[in-house]
Amino acid sequence: MGKTTLEYQQNPRSTQYRFLSLGACHDKIEPMTTFKNTAVSNDQLHRFVFDNTPIRGNTVRLQDTYKTALQHVDYPPRLKNALGELMAAAALLAATLKLENGALILQIQGQGPLNLLVVECSASLEMRATAKWQGKIDKQTFNELIGNGHFVITLDPKDGGQTYQGIVPIEGDSISEILQNYMERSEQIETRIWLACDEQSAAGMLLQKLPDLPEQDTDAWARTGFLAETITVEELIKLPAETLLTRLFHEEDVRLFDPRNICFRCSCSRKNVSNMLKMLGAAEVDSIIEERGEIEVNCDFCNAAYVFDKVDAEQLFAADITPPISKTKH
Ligand SMILES: [Zn+2]
Repeated sequence: MGKTTLEYQQNPRSTQYRFLSLGACHDKIEPMTTFKNTAVSNDQLHRFVFDNTPIRGNTVRLQDTYKTALQHVDYPPRLKNALGELMAAAALLAATLKLENGALILQIQGQGPLNLLVVECSASLEMRATAKWQGKIDKQTFNELIGNGHFVITLDPKDGGQTYQGIVPIEGDSISEILQNYMERSEQIETRIWLACDEQSAAGMLLQKLPDLPEQDTDAWARTGFLAETITVEELIKLPAETLLTRLFHEEDVRLFDPRNICFRCSCSRKNVSNMLKMLGAAEVDSIIEERGEIEVNCDFCNAAYVFDKVDAEQLFAADITPPISKTKH
């Protein structure tokens, strides 16, 4: 394969240090002036900055991750679309956070035909997604699908540390609107998000404004937002990041960073299911096995089946040598 390198503008006045000084929630920044067109993955996240402005952004495209996440369930097309958009949004937001080894979980909880959309994206951009619904999902508006719903955002550090959770009533008639409203009202970070999804891919772009520095171009937020607003669904889904950014912002000093790969991965395990059964208690587990011969737990995200028979159940509780917790004490 021939070497294809697309040159990107670099403003010599902008330094790595300067960008880091703009805000606390950046992960490691590697200076990047060239984009290697390596075609490693169809599923990538690109970060970019507008030099000498407080604006940063990401673009994302998901193909394999999106298809794998949805392949286990025959979702109505509207829900596929909504899940794809929420997946793209989760990757865009996760990349703006300092997650260490944790995960960002976005949930839309509804009381209409759509009960739940859940997307989890880890710090290393491994994703999983699922949805629950009832009745017919057809031509309803997004608000009609959700009814009186809530948007829940969770930052799970996955290390036993404090989990952050924000729960707000849903405001907006699309996933991008809901997220923008949440970010502006609850997190006080000006954020614009564009999302698109078709049968094959989900894609998105995010622009975020960090606190202004006095010497910076203070008009840039309005200007880049105006330029970004011209983006079409087709451009978002089809164009490579560098082409998209050149098309939208050709007069701006955009610096594009190395892409990060995204993949589907479910974090379910037999150990987690075992723990869940232990919490259920020996009596309950025994009675289910008595009735059905075994317990089968299916993962909503990846459809993996975990089966426990009588012997497994006995081992489950026999192995638990920790002292029994009194039911009257907390
Ligand atoms: Zn799973």
